[in-house]
Amino acid sequence: MPQPSPARTVAAPTQTPGSCVRCGFVTSQTVCKACLFTEGLNRGAAVPVAPAER
Ligand SMILES: [Zn+2]
Repeated sequence: MPQPSPARTVAAPTQTPGSCVRCGFVTSQTVCKACLFTEGLNRGAAVPVAPAER
């Protein structure tokens, strides 16, 4: 049976406003700096992490 197409292009995880979507840490951004830093390390990028919203 056909499934309803998602209205959102990007799958947005359930986020509490004012908290990190990764660890739930209180932050004004979508992802806290700690998770951004960790993500940068995982990507192997030595460049400073810039907040990229897609
Ligand atoms: Zn976080």
